[in-house]
Amino acid sequence: MTHRYIFVVGGVMSGVGKGVTTASLGKILQSRGMHVTAIKIDPYVNVDAGTMNPLEHGEVFVTNDGDETDQDMGNYERFLDADLSSINYMTTGRVYQTVIQKERNLEYKGKCVEVVPHIPLEVIRRIKHAASQAKADITMVEVGGTVGEYQNILFLEAARMMHLEDPENVLFVLVSYLPVPKHLGEMKTKPTQYATRTLNSAGIHPDFIVCRGEQYMDKPRREKLSIFCNVKPDAVITAPDVPSIYHIPALFEEQGLSSTILKKFRLKPRSSDLKKWKAMASVQENAKKTVKIGVVGKYFSTGEYTLSDSYISVIESLKHAAWANNARIEMEWINSEHFEDGSIKLNNLSIFDGILVPGGFGTRGIEGVISSVKYCREKKIPYFGLCYGMQLATVEFARNVLGKTGAHTVEVDEATKDPIIHVNPIQRKNIRENRYGGTMRLGAYDCDLKPGTIARKAYGKPTVSERHRHRYEFNNEYAATIEKKGMMISGVNPQTGLVEIVELKGHPFFVGVQFHPEFHSRPLRPHPLFKAFIAASLIHHS
Ligand code: GLN
Repeated sequence: MTHRYIFVVGGVMSGVGKGVTTASLGKILQSRGMHVTAIKIDPYVNVDAGTMNPLEHGEVFVTNDGDETDQDMGNYERFLDADLSSINYMTTGRVYQTVIQKERNLEYKGKCVEVVPHIPLEVIRRIKHAASQAKADITMVEVGGTVGEYQNILFLEAARMMHLEDPENVLFVLVSYLPVPKHLGEMKTKPTQYATRTLNSAGIHPDFIVCRGEQYMDKPRREKLSIFCNVKPDAVITAPDVPSIYHIPALFEEQGLSSTILKKFRLKPRSSDLKKWKAMASVQENAKKTVKIGVVGKYFSTGEYTLSDSYISVIESLKHAAWANNARIEMEWINSEHFEDGSIKLNNLSIFDGILVPGGFGTRGIEGVISSVKYCREKKIPYFGLCYGMQLATVEFARNVLGKTGAHTVEVDEATKDPIIHVNPIQRKNIRENRYGGTMRLGAYDCDLKPGTIARKAYGKPTVSERHRHRYEFNNEYAATIEKKGMMISGVNPQTGLVEIVELKGHPFFVGVQFHPEFHSRPLRPHPLFKAFIAASLIHHS
């Protein structure tokens, strides 16, 4: 079959939504009946995103096969409603690692192995492999970073070579930014012109320019960009800020973008079907009910700047679940450290319909989280704990219900008398030997659900599979004791006996999961536990 490729590259500056643009382009082509897959290229030397601080890099998105990838992979999965895997993700580190290993294995048959062409050739091999594995009509390839950077030049080189080999089936999209300087009040096109020229100097000419900006681009500017950047006016696309990223596919379609792309590819598929998608995207603006969720965590601030990127999949999952419950959602970030220094009182949590504690690592802010859990347990506020949020819920229970006041996770207190969250010998060895990269319990594992529990009811089936990313786990020595006192183990991994879900008897919704359900939520197929959490929060509200 013919595989077609669309490379998406960024110009002017980073952080303008290249990932969402890539995902939205994929979505509109998919809505025309095309089979679409997506690849993210990260120019870092890191082999994966797992070793990066979420404050610096945002969320680490985990695939079913346990790859620790970039958050854009989450955008692709959500927009395309597809499970991607490690073949959809590459970094500079990963590409070099393969080339060096091949060289060690004599696979280059004695040749001098050079940065060019061997690195781009490995990039091309990976791109083509992902396309053929997915049997994709169209493969979206997002090249991280911005044109003109030293870091991504070899990836652009790979893209150029693919175009040289098969010009009819490779397109380029430049995602640019049109600033409106305050003192001028006018949208400026010059940075985009320079970005186009920079891309040209890498031997690549954009077929489309997606112009991000605070506002719509007007006709004169579209015409100007068309002439100065040498692209047709209908290939200059305006992408202003919109209230929700889920509006972007429709925004592109209003400009006929999928038709223009498909014409370039000489394809004539069915007409677009975005009806359900558009309905989903408009609930936030139209719903009568509101649900107010507090997210208690710690990866929130770097200096003056608040970063919600570190929990992007959690945020999106909450939105999907609220919209499926016909409610608009209000979310508030609560830094758990503020409960520790007393700058916020615990009873501030009472304004929320539900509290969610997402995953996390380390010591900072932990006592603040534990007190929030206690507050939700005692005041019967719906509580949903993900990964660390589940582990700390068991710590709270051990301390305050079982009376084991020194109980802890060994991640924070290695010498605790009551290690209700502990670590297995293999993981202990990994930590001792500083083997941190890719060594957590990662990816999809089965979970058997206990009949009659909130979890079993929410999922509506006896066994599920969920994605994981953790090193520590519940210590089964405490299983009988917590169950006797009212904390039920409602989900267990059948192969290992590891505890996957706990919940409280006699509480409207108190659920902690060892896995990350947020990686499975899709806009039109919200995650069952998120959906049940929002439903319980709406009841709490009324
Ligand atoms: N820090 C905990 C662990 O490693 C929880 C991880 C998480 O929340 N993703 O087990």
